[in-house]
Amino acid sequence: LFRLLPVVGQLNGARNGFANASASVESVSDFLRRDNKPFMKNGSLLYSKLEKGIRFENVSFGYPSRSSLVLKNVDLWVPRGTTLALVGASGAGKSTLVDLLPRFYDPTEGRITLDDQDLREFNLRSLRQSMGIVSQDTFLFNDSVRNNIAYGKADATDEDVIEAAKRSNAHEFILQLPQGFDTPLGDRGILLSGGQRQRLAIARALLRNPEILVLDEATSALDTVSERLVQQAIDELSRDRTTIVIAHRLSTVQKADQIAVMDKGSVVELGSHEELLKQGGYYARLCLMQFSEDTQEALKLSKHTA
Ligand code: ADP
Ligand code: MG
Repeated sequence: LFRLLPVVGQLNGARNGFANASASVESVSDFLRRDNKPFMKNGSLLYSKLEKGIRFENVSFGYPSRSSLVLKNVDLWVPRGTTLALVGASGAGKSTLVDLLPRFYDPTEGRITLDDQDLREFNLRSLRQSMGIVSQDTFLFNDSVRNNIAYGKADATDEDVIEAAKRSNAHEFILQLPQGFDTPLGDRGILLSGGQRQRLAIARALLRNPEILVLDEATSALDTVSERLVQQAIDELSRDRTTIVIAHRLSTVQKADQIAVMDKGSVVELGSHEELLKQGGYYARLCLMQFSEDTQEALKLSKHTA
């Protein structure tokens, strides 16, 4: 239940996306066709490197099929190399907000910029190649472990694949599979646990090495060992990378440089974990409700240090 696909391989939105192993340029036009958008501006600017950061400027958005806005005047600044965690109730607009980054949709109002350049100025393909999305469902192809990790990076060597597997805490379990890196996966292959699938997804992302990372954290419970291994892998993946994470775990949220609390399409609170706890507002209540046990500890700690 944890998907990683290079965004260039996605056809229709981060959550309905589907890709085949040869998807690349074609998939972008497929995506445009399927979404039935008569016109999506494709800029000429080739994306190369993020120097300053990502800015959401007064971003509002409504799905074409609905009259009401699902994002309202969102302003956010994510400096290069930092992590922004999005939290909020289901339906608050978190997934919609991150879907705007690879331009699955464009804002109805306002704009999103990379280093002050509107996303619409960039060549779509180069824009999407700069981003990695690790989302809740990992798509595993009917192919070997090796090819599943190397998906989206045709020129990866065996050494690259092994290195990515090691850094994502996947190497050890892979070696224990019947045929190691040659073990077939997918619905015709062997069954992996949720934690194992997640670590494969992370290995895939590490190999692609995207500058901008969008993580939709899995909500499903993992056992403690798996949880720790996955968390370490995520820490490794997001290190020195500009990361936007839809966070469900307190451990992720606490480490983020900024937390944006979303409610009904708006950012209602913004700050670090400590700042938001002190405010005693929505975030503090959300912590108590959603992250109950861990958060009781965090609240106690922050009282002691306050
Ligand atoms: P979250 O990720 O915070 O749970 P979403 O961004 O998925 O929230 O959803 C925000 C709102 O947009 C919800 O009311 C949801 O029903 C609506 N929505 C999400 N995707 C679509 C879509 N493809 N078409 C129309 N409405 C959508
Ligand atoms: Mg969502």
